[in-house]
Amino acid sequence: MSSPEQDFLVDMPHFPDPELEAKRELIYAPLGERDIARLARFGERRTFHDGEHLFEISKPSAGMYVVLSGTVAAFRRDPLGRRVRIAQRGPGHILAELGHLWGHRAPFEGIAQGEVEALLVTPDGLRTLMVTEVELGTRLLEVLILRRKALASLGLAGPALVAPRSHPRLHRLQEFLLRSGYPHTVIDPASDPDAATLVDRHAAGPEDLPLAVCPDGTVLKNPGDIALGRYLDVLPNSVRRRGYDVAVVGAGPAGLSTAVYAASEGLSVLVVDSRGFGGQAGASARIENYFGFPIGLSGQELTSLGFAQATKFGAEFAIPAHAVRLDCTRGDGAPGSFRLELDDGRHVSARTVVLASGARYRRPDLPGLETFEGRGVSYWASPIEAHHCRGQDVVLVGGGNSAGQAAVFLSGHAVRVLVLVRGKGLSESMSRYLVDRIAATPNIQVHTRTELSGLEPDENGELGFARWKHRDTGTEHRHEVGQVFLFVGADPATEWLSDCDVALDAKGFVRTGPDLSRDDLARSGRRTIPAPLETNVPGVFAVGDVRSGSVKRVGGAIGEGAAVVAQLHAYLADLARTTPPLGASARAT
Ligand SMILES: Cc1cc2nc3c(=O)[nH]c(=O)nc-3n(C[C@H](O)[C@H](O)[C@H](O)COP(=O)(O)OP(=O)(O)OC[C@H]3O[C@@H](n4cnc5c(N)ncnc54)[C@H](O)[C@@H]3O)c2cc1C
Repeated sequence: MSSPEQDFLVDMPHFPDPELEAKRELIYAPLGERDIARLARFGERRTFHDGEHLFEISKPSAGMYVVLSGTVAAFRRDPLGRRVRIAQRGPGHILAELGHLWGHRAPFEGIAQGEVEALLVTPDGLRTLMVTEVELGTRLLEVLILRRKALASLGLAGPALVAPRSHPRLHRLQEFLLRSGYPHTVIDPASDPDAATLVDRHAAGPEDLPLAVCPDGTVLKNPGDIALGRYLDVLPNSVRRRGYDVAVVGAGPAGLSTAVYAASEGLSVLVVDSRGFGGQAGASARIENYFGFPIGLSGQELTSLGFAQATKFGAEFAIPAHAVRLDCTRGDGAPGSFRLELDDGRHVSARTVVLASGARYRRPDLPGLETFEGRGVSYWASPIEAHHCRGQDVVLVGGGNSAGQAAVFLSGHAVRVLVLVRGKGLSESMSRYLVDRIAATPNIQVHTRTELSGLEPDENGELGFARWKHRDTGTEHRHEVGQVFLFVGADPATEWLSDCDVALDAKGFVRTGPDLSRDDLARSGRRTIPAPLETNVPGVFAVGDVRSGSVKRVGGAIGEGAAVVAQLHAYLADLARTTPPLGASARAT
């Protein structure tokens, strides 16, 4: 006989996701007196009268609240702006989720029902607690991470994306929000009357879709993912004026790992990323070769844990923010000597810079390719794309690990996965376990010595047919397909370093340490070989896929992110030894 459900669980929603359902008690449990007493030294007591707001929709949240006495009700707005009560919480209950770790804009409002006393713990207080109170801190961090997932799984927060489910621009927004772990809902005007009303009210024509109805009621028409990310404050995005010990460009596995280790060792860190956290790994449906995860996990899961970990240790993030220039002129070597310029006009000052900008997927030279990008052609295979493969044959081009992984994943959704490789087989470029798995999967067909030669539309202008050619016989095939996936390699994301002294190899990857040539060193006036992950410019380091000679694996990127921190410390210690303290030179003159 199952134990009587804990009283506090009685009115709490259940989760469709079994993993979350198994943690339902942890997600909703109120804190006991002992926990609150331990928490109190990191926060302050606040009182609220009946009807007063503890936090408001889309306003920066002051931090995590724990109800001490009284009751707080939480409300969200539905897509038509109607207020919907989503929860009522009493003494001991935590009013927070992951975003409270950096003070994001609250996706819903909390209002006192009668007199309320609550404990407020600010983001700084929360992070200090998580580092100093290990047991309670770890438990709270897990609860906040689970609550973010719970909101996404229940569709209780975030924007409502309004468009037909097959709408190509909808996928891009969904993929962006999924990769950032940001809750949202999708409503289809064909099946949802509210969605139909919104389209009538706000969409002048198909060019206005998808609509994004934000928690504060604002309706964005066909927003780009960056614009949506900025409006919703999906991720932290501030740059402090006084600068950092370390500026990291790229929040993929390498950049996140650098942030975790550097921040946990007391360095002040800012990570900038053009789009979100996770990098290429975030696009991987299942990473099975990362040490310690035998059953594998999705790249999004691995990197969102890394993001939470880095935030816990105090690393700061500016996302979305695209680095457009690194000013390497070393001034007088005083702290803050590097200046990183961002696409929105902001700049970052830092004593050291870590290049972790990784690589970007390569686009084959195929006529009309851009017409079908997002309309049947994709460079990654997430659950969203897989959903659209049902009942169809799909073509997948590429012979590397990312292609192999995607083929196996898609074989669980598509009728047939037709893999096209230019080489004689898969074994030269793909890990053994993937080659074996593909061979054992009946609905994966591998076409060797074959190249994609053309794409054709169907009657609705969406992708309808793919053509491929045998490289030896020249025979061409035309096949009806629903989707084409392209995994044809990646190019280094270093174009933004063009007017900086950092030495690149012939393919554009960043050279470091022993890979640097005499000329590279001479160009920056260095006589000694730099540290293994240091470039020819003192104080600028490179890690992960962007680095020449790196292994192009998640484990390698994370390992280099960890390894570079000791080299940062050594450089900063050296800088401290050789740089006169601030104002010393002024005093000397
Ligand atoms: C689909 C797929 C599946 C994969 N599966 C596996 C696997 O199973 N196992 C494995 O070991 N490896 C796998 N890989 C490879 C692995 O993902 C990469 O080796 C790893 O992500 C490299 O990490 P990184 O941090 O160096 O670079 P990236 O992951 O490329 O991240 C770089 C980040 O920098 C940002 N950026 C770039 N330029 C700028 C700029 N100018 N300003 C600001 N930000 C910038 C990008 O937005 C990106 O977020 C896979 C790759 C792909 C594409």
